[in-house]
Amino acid sequence: MCGIIGILGHHQVAEDLIYGLNSIQHRGQDAAGIVAFDETFRMMKGLGLVNRVFEDEEAVSRLRGRLGIGHVRYSTIGANEVLDAQPFFVNYPFGLAMAHNGNVNNFRSLRRSLYEDDHRLLDSSCDVELILYALASELEKKDLKHFTNEDLFDAVEATQRRVEGAYSTITIVANRGLLAFADPYGIRPLVFGKKTTKEGTCYAFASESACLDYIGFEVIRDLEPGEVIFIDMDQKVHSQIRYRKRQAFCVFEYIYFAREDSRIHKRGVAHERVRMGKALARRFRQTGLQPDIVIDVPSSAYFFASGLAEELGIPYRRGLSKNNHVGRSFISPNQAEREKVVRLKLNPLKDVVRGRKIAVVDDSIVRGTTSRHLVRLLREAGAKEIYMVSASPPIRHPCIYGIDMSIKREMIATGLSVKEISKKIGADALVYQRLSDLRRLYRGLPICDACFSGEYPTGATGEVFKEIEMERECSNNKKK
Ligand code: AMP
Repeated sequence: MCGIIGILGHHQVAEDLIYGLNSIQHRGQDAAGIVAFDETFRMMKGLGLVNRVFEDEEAVSRLRGRLGIGHVRYSTIGANEVLDAQPFFVNYPFGLAMAHNGNVNNFRSLRRSLYEDDHRLLDSSCDVELILYALASELEKKDLKHFTNEDLFDAVEATQRRVEGAYSTITIVANRGLLAFADPYGIRPLVFGKKTTKEGTCYAFASESACLDYIGFEVIRDLEPGEVIFIDMDQKVHSQIRYRKRQAFCVFEYIYFAREDSRIHKRGVAHERVRMGKALARRFRQTGLQPDIVIDVPSSAYFFASGLAEELGIPYRRGLSKNNHVGRSFISPNQAEREKVVRLKLNPLKDVVRGRKIAVVDDSIVRGTTSRHLVRLLREAGAKEIYMVSASPPIRHPCIYGIDMSIKREMIATGLSVKEISKKIGADALVYQRLSDLRRLYRGLPICDACFSGEYPTGATGEVFKEIEMERECSNNKKK
């Protein structure tokens, strides 16, 4: 998972890009990069957090131009090297600089075809290069002297047909404008916004609406599946949908990934989490469990927990305190390291949990590292009974669309019943959201729930899983 932003303004955009990237830092903390355009591309990339990568003000001042894109990276494949940090650019047939969020599924075959048919060789293991080179190759087939916007839309359509997987992309087309397009299923989010200034309207694209809020842009709308939007240098907006499939928006964005203050497809993320919490109550009642309090695993589970507590008529309490200055447990390189980070991160409020029966709500359980540790901690703090609650259904299938949970054998729910999982994490009971209840909440918005259901909207083959698992194992080994 990654975060992207692009702006076409009237003045320098670098500062807004940095603020914007900062606001979507949760989408990727491994690397950050910006490309601005002002007669030529100027690029700055580095490993680590946005503030660190862009701390040198003098270097930032060289990112001139009223057209720019930025990216924060969360590495799902490859070792975390600066070589793989986005954006990427090419200079032929036009200057094109691109950043994306998602995952290309036909990586190998596309890389081969780009080499054999289009004579383009990748520089990195980053899949945005595939999309960028595919677009450049499609543009190259056009009459470059009399190039029109229709030619651009043709080239994007051909690219969408060639690239399989999930992708939301933003591209600078040198001297011509800012281009954004989504995969035909609209799996990853991308929002379009504007700001009215004395000089005229500025436009922006970003992974999340909260990012636009921070830089003072108002949301126009989310991109539709397969949609292509091009804003030319006269700030005219051109939009087309040529290649669209049945929408399959990633429901995990609402569950975990997106900020609680973002709105996606007209649904506030916090509100969606409350709804999921309330839906959990139905399942919870069927178990006959009678907790004294509901607590959350901070910070992403707060709204689920408050929804569940409200619906059950049981008090919500903050039962765990989080140290925000510890790194992320989930993407730590190995299990020992992950456990250490979880240990340093959360501490129970003993007075709140002692002697009580507690429902502990988390957004999801993947490997079970967090839940196992929390159950132990809460017991040591004197909790009487511990009921672990997952706001999402059991995760049993790898995500092939860019979320870091792609090795099946690492998932705690693989091949185990709920009782067995509960035993494994040491809880007195375990309650999962039901897939049917989750789906009921999304009748009006077709979602991708492949990680729970195994139903992949793009119809992935065994080959894709093998490839992704191999890449993941290989990058895990590199990180060890
Ligand atoms: P685990 O400890 O492996 O069971 O992972 C579950 C915990 O990690 C939960 O507390 C989630 O909030 C968090 N989480 C779930 N999915 C992801 C993800 N793709 N990347 C980072 N963290 C995640």
